Amino acid sequence: MRANVVADAIAVEERWCARNYKPLPVVISRAEGVWMWDADGTRYLDMMSAYSAVNLGHSHPRILHALTEQAAKVAVVSRAFHTDRLGPFLAKLCELTGLDGACPMNTGAEAVETAIKAARRWGYRVKNIPEGRAEIIVARGNFHGRTTTIVGFSSEAEYQDGFGPFAPGFRLVDYGDADALEAAITPDTAAILIEPIQGEAGIVVPPTGYLRRVREICDRQNVLMILDEIQSGLGRTGKWFAYQHEDIRPDGLCLGKALGGGVLPVSAFVARRDVISQFVPGNHGSTFGGNPLAAAVGLEALNTIADEKLVERSAELGAHMMTRLSAINSPLIAGVRGRGLWVGVEINPTLATARSVCEALMRNGVLSKETHDTVIRFAPPLVISAEELDWAINRFEETLSALFLADAKVPA
Ligand SMILES: *Cc1c(COP(=O)(O)O)cnc(C)c1O
Repeated sequence: MRANVVADAIAVEERWCARNYKPLPVVISRAEGVWMWDADGTRYLDMMSAYSAVNLGHSHPRILHALTEQAAKVAVVSRAFHTDRLGPFLAKLCELTGLDGACPMNTGAEAVETAIKAARRWGYRVKNIPEGRAEIIVARGNFHGRTTTIVGFSSEAEYQDGFGPFAPGFRLVDYGDADALEAAITPDTAAILIEPIQGEAGIVVPPTGYLRRVREICDRQNVLMILDEIQSGLGRTGKWFAYQHEDIRPDGLCLGKALGGGVLPVSAFVARRDVISQFVPGNHGSTFGGNPLAAAVGLEALNTIADEKLVERSAELGAHMMTRLSAINSPLIAGVRGRGLWVGVEINPTLATARSVCEALMRNGVLSKETHDTVIRFAPPLVISAEELDWAINRFEETLSALFLADAKVPA
């Protein structure tokens, strides 16, 4: 794309949009499958998938069909009335998770807020915690969204700076340390809320057996185990849900991102009967949550993931991606970790920033984004082919060698 056109588009956006993000200097105007194009037709492979929102790829024909067909019938009625779309969508979610009921919302943060409300009320009504004292244990490095309650229990200073005062009732422990978690439990603990793999923290995979131990602890201590699978769920890690890697089931589950088929915000809190039944008419809601357009798209997204065997593909191609990335011999790489088609590459911070590598990779036709200065995320849409994946990894290898050579040429 001509440099002045790119610069103009960026300038207009920066003039009018709050600067709460720092996008790469690329201007996308079209996308299909795993590919995105700028206005001049320069093609990029999407290794980002909008933080898992685009697990099905861009403009999936089945999703577009469900979207347009439902939009032409009825899109939004609020929950003041029943629709013929909501029931089948939530029934499918419960069938997939083995849980009993679901509360439909829109964004991930709303699903987490819903989980927090359900857990606290369960604490008072079922566990008999004294009113106003319920606590939820969360993990350092967590990312659960951006509402004031949720950033209030973040361990990231920049998520909180200037946004307080924050809601009490949360307790932080180290991620991956089941003993620390158990030690933090008191009679007032209603729930633990964790990600099975921490995405925004840099694709941090906990020690094997961690989730199973948390499950045992929660059972023994009568504490709800709530998992946030908004980014890890729906095939990203090579299972439908990351908790299935350890053969457990949570009491409550937050889903979002890929649930909207890459076209809409669709989220849900799915839970055990005694947890979801904490919601009664009037005590929680959302104007758009569970609208028939979202429900039709959500159900089609779930059916498409199943019919196209995308979970299996994520497991197979994910293993291939991990093998290939781990085999790259570059001083720029300090480590590779992940699960399924979800891998974080740690860049050696003494040689380059992850941002500079992402910018160089962009110039080679591959789009991804750094997280936390040092980690590059590789998370292509699950519909990617083996050839396309290899193409992206080859570009990454070339980018690293070019960067390292360029670096080596700089006189001391
Ligand atoms: C993205 C994300 C959220 C927040 O979702 P939004 O739709 O941005 O509100 C919550 N939890 C996890 C694990 C996420 O990755």
